[in-house]
Amino acid sequence: MVVGVLAIQGDFEKHLSSLSRCSQPPETLEVRTEAELARIDRLIIPGGESTTVGLLLERYGLGPAIQQRAEGGMPIWGTCMGMIMLAAEVEGSSQYRLGLMDVTVRRNAFGAQVHSFEDTFAFDGQEVTGVFIRAPIVTSMGPGVSELARYSDQIVAVRQGNRVGTSFHPELTDDVRLHEWFLKI
Ligand code: GLN
Repeated sequence: MVVGVLAIQGDFEKHLSSLSRCSQPPETLEVRTEAELARIDRLIIPGGESTTVGLLLERYGLGPAIQQRAEGGMPIWGTCMGMIMLAAEVEGSSQYRLGLMDVTVRRNAFGAQVHSFEDTFAFDGQEVTGVFIRAPIVTSMGPGVSELARYSDQIVAVRQGNRVGTSFHPELTDDVRLHEWFLKI
């Protein structure tokens, strides 16, 4: 199994490092082109800047190619910016997005960069530490979407079939349980 990490911008190297620390490290690939996308079995979209990455996905045609792979069933996990990219709607913005999850997100919902923080909460029944950096929240979701975690009464992790979005950054902790979990989807 080859796990791709979208490597246009953002903290993709941290995801590669987390994957390398899994109990059975998968083969990994930095994905920037359609040819690379065609070689992977799963995709992680990292944290970063959603407007920048959206523009580049649109300009270089990788967005439609990701949508096509998603329709073919490829599991995709978006962390922070990645979750914004997966959303159908971004509150107050028409920025480019993949629209692969029936959710509306609010960007920077916990405040600006200076309000970044980390804290623990329950994810799918297990306690995890979430690092939140200008993190989005899910403000509404369709019937096909399930909530996986809340923090401070806000929805911070969702799943729709093979697609997962988390507001926080497991790749910025030592804990690889969420990466291991994603590999089993
Ligand atoms: N606030 C960023 C955005 O809207 C996301 C931040 C992150 O990925 N850490 O794109």
